[in-house]
Amino acid sequence: MAWEPLSDEQLEIRELVRTLARDRIAPRAAEIDLSREFPWDVVELYREHEIFGLFFDQQHGGTGTGTLISLVAIEEVSKVCATSGVILAVQELGSLALKLAGTDEQKQRFLPRLASGESLAAYALTEAGSGSDSAAMRTTARREGDAYVLDGSKRFITNAAVASVYTVFAKTDPEAGHAGISAFVVEADTPGFEVARLEPKMGIAGSTTGELVFDGAHVPAANLLGAEGEGFKIAMRVLDRSRPGVAAQGLGIAQGATDYALEYARTRETMGKPIAEHQLIAAKLADMETRCEAARGLLYRFGRMVDERAADSELTKASAMAKLACTDAAMWVTTEAVQILGGYGYIKEYPVERMMRDAKITQIYEGTNEIQRLVIAREMLKESRAFLLAGVA
Ligand SMILES: Cc1cc2nc3c(=O)[nH]c(=O)nc-3n(C[C@H](O)[C@H](O)[C@H](O)COP(=O)(O)OP(=O)(O)OC[C@H]3O[C@@H](n4cnc5c(N)ncnc54)[C@H](O)[C@@H]3O)c2cc1C
Repeated sequence: MAWEPLSDEQLEIRELVRTLARDRIAPRAAEIDLSREFPWDVVELYREHEIFGLFFDQQHGGTGTGTLISLVAIEEVSKVCATSGVILAVQELGSLALKLAGTDEQKQRFLPRLASGESLAAYALTEAGSGSDSAAMRTTARREGDAYVLDGSKRFITNAAVASVYTVFAKTDPEAGHAGISAFVVEADTPGFEVARLEPKMGIAGSTTGELVFDGAHVPAANLLGAEGEGFKIAMRVLDRSRPGVAAQGLGIAQGATDYALEYARTRETMGKPIAEHQLIAAKLADMETRCEAARGLLYRFGRMVDERAADSELTKASAMAKLACTDAAMWVTTEAVQILGGYGYIKEYPVERMMRDAKITQIYEGTNEIQRLVIAREMLKESRAFLLAGVA
């Protein structure tokens, strides 16, 4: 029997998700990309099979099966359709602030409907003038009686217009830098809140990416997450745990492209033999598979760290490394897959064309890969490696 890092229960869940991905999502992937329409049928499929529940504990209506298998689910779906993968990843991204900083009342109010998929979630940190430098945000929240009044806008927000629960970051003390940021849950029907427009994109075409506008939006004070001024800390804790979702999406895209290129190379013949038997193509396939497997090692390690309750301080570097490795692999591997298919790789009839476009965003969102490298180096500088220099001195 093949060596397997997952438990029997995890394997059973993976098999369910893999079957849904193969039989129900894969046949829709090209159409979702071409139509650029949000795939509500995929959301319905996830609801029916309790796939959103994989991201939540039992107390709040989820399966309580842990982080590793939730990442595997995103990976499996993303092998065939990156838009469908990001729907799962953002359900987690948009729910995490509630899970990490919500009161019991807030959790009871929101998490069960996010676990069932009745409500979709979004996470709104980025603004037109502040992406990597998120502390430079300009959206404000002013306390007025038992509400906060939000003014400003957010850009590039995934699930805009389809989510009903938004985690929004705004400045309650604009003079205090990142210590002046607070986090709120904003419901879609809040007066003064609207989605102003949706962006056309290079990839993940079925996923919505939009601009949120807050024009005197009244958000109940009961929707403040944590204390005033804790928002930046919450945003960073969320990203430490959510980035691996993007990593899983990237890994899925990379493995899907590798699998497709392998099957193509087995049957496409030039100079009297399958191209897989030409050494230059064989080497590409070997490198693609190795990049995927190495990235998977980092991703699954992160999943196990969370499931085994590793300290928050240990997650930062592990999460950034998983994101960096998986998503750089996605871009590199999908480019090689297009090359293996030659001219056929460049046309829409073959899925590697879509996979290469979809891969690019994974290097950009939830912290660009330049930012991941800065995070990893910063964490390294906190560690002592002095023993290596001992003999040199
Ligand atoms: C399709 C899509 C979906 C998205 N979904 C969401 C979402 O749901 N929620 C949300 O809040 N945001 C979302 N984003 C925003 C995304 O996270 C940001 O675009 C990203 O963090 C980069 O910010 P920016 O675009 O402002 O680029 P900038 O920060 O302006 O960066 C530009 C370039 O400079 C580099 N750079 C910046 N600072 C440094 C530095 N200190 N050192 C070295 N290099 C640096 C960057 O790596 C990048 O290459 C989404 C974006 C897209 C395109």
